[in-house]
Formats: sequence, C-alpha cells, structure tokens
Amino acid sequence: MSELTPAIQPRCPICGALDAQQVLDRGPYRVVRCQRCQLQYAHPMPTPTDLMAYYQDLTYFEGSATEGYADYAGMEQVLRPLAERRLRQIETRTDGPGRVLDFGCAGGFFLDQARRHGWQIAGVELSQPMAERAAALLQIPIATNLARLTDPHGTFDVITLWEVIEHLPDPLAVLAQLRFWLKPGGWLALSTPNTGHWQALAAPDRGRAIAPQPTSCIWPSQPCVACWHKLDLPLCKYGVAAHGPTCLVGSTA
Ligand SMILES: [Zn+2]
Repeated sequence: MSELTPAIQPRCPICGALDAQQVLDRGPYRVVRCQRCQLQYAHPMPTPTDLMAYYQDLTYFEGSATEGYADYAGMEQVLRPLAERRLRQIETRTDGPGRVLDFGCAGGFFLDQARRHGWQIAGVELSQPMAERAAALLQIPIATNLARLTDPHGTFDVITLWEVIEHLPDPLAVLAQLRFWLKPGGWLALSTPNTGHWQALAAPDRGRAIAPQPTSCIWPSQPCVACWHKLDLPLCKYGVAAHGPTCLVGSTA
C-alpha cells in the first residue's frame, strides 16, 4: 500500500476526508481507500460524461472479456430467481404490491418479475441500448435519466438499485434525489459489492465480480451505514449476502 502525496490527495465522496491510501493501480486510475470510513473509490473519479459514453456501448453488457458482462441476456436464468428473492425480502416489509421504481433496471428482468407479483413498475436505465431492451420486454417507456422520469415526486412505495451505486461518481447526490420519488414511509432497497467480502480481502486485484469496471465507489458495510445516516433515512435492515451487502432502508420523507 503506497502513500498518496498531499498534492494528489482525493476527497472521499462519502465522508469528505482527505486521507486516502492507494489499494490498486489500474493504469489510468487508482483505487484508493478512505482511512476514515473505509470506502474504496476511483482516483481520479470518472466523470459522468465518461461513464455515459461507457454504458452506451453494448459491449459493456455482452461480449466483454475484462469489463462489464460477458453476456447479460444469458444471465436471465440467474437474474430472475435473484429478483424473486429480492422481491420476497421487500414484500415482508411492505403492505403488498405497490409501485416500484428500479433505478438502473438494465434489461428489465427485476421489473418483469415484480409485475408478475402485482407491482406497478417504472424503470430508469442510463444505457440507451439497454433501456430499449427493457422497454421492448416490459412494453413500457424506460427513462434514460431521472430528469426524464414522468412520474411525480412521492409516487413510489419502493425504489431499488441493484448493483448500481458502485458505478455512481456521486452516489449520495443520486440517493438524495431518489428519495424525493419515495412515498412517505417508502423503502429504498439496494445491493452493491462488498469490500469486506473474504474474496475481496484475499485478492483485491482479482475480484472482477467484486470490483466491476468501471467502478467509482466500492462499499464496505461501514460507509453504507454512514451513507444512510447522512440521508436521514433510518436503517431498518442491513445484511451481507454471499456476493455483497444488501441494504433495505425506510424513508421518513
Ligand atoms: Zn470516507
């Protein structure tokens, strides 16, 4: 682990600390760990423009040997049962199917399963080609950013982000925006890779599944919890699944 000089010392996007140490050197950028909250994040952070360009290329979702997905559509048999488990988790905390927004809905498998459970669905997907796939599957419009979401604030009982926040350069800002769309008492549910997972601890430079590319922030449990407190969302459940943590958070909005 090498020291970063004060001249290139980055600011932690969650706690704001100027106290990072390098974990990995990935060529064009480094992965650093905040010494205060343990968040790992990219330095320099990719810009929103960089990321948007990245996700418009379908090779991120198919045929990618080193980054993204080898075959996202081919993962349907895995993703649908995963969606079922997540829906069961959510439905133990809600009064029954309501309205759900999946932010970063990719090809729409989670939303398709949710609709089969009786949920009214909406999706946001930043990748235009994946948004088109989801729209074709679900036969509903899929917004390519929050500004294009036509549903009014306070609409959703549940907002989900499955393996999304690790890709966001400013996750707190996005989560803070999303809570405006929650109904009072609504739920925010998400999952993200976990740097506290034994595979990540054993081989941090080999964990592609744990640190997918391009990655902005990789979260151990502590910053996740700190994040919710910053948003003034009371933590209702926090669990670490085999592949990473899953957080379910209630809103007081
Ligand atoms: Zn920090």
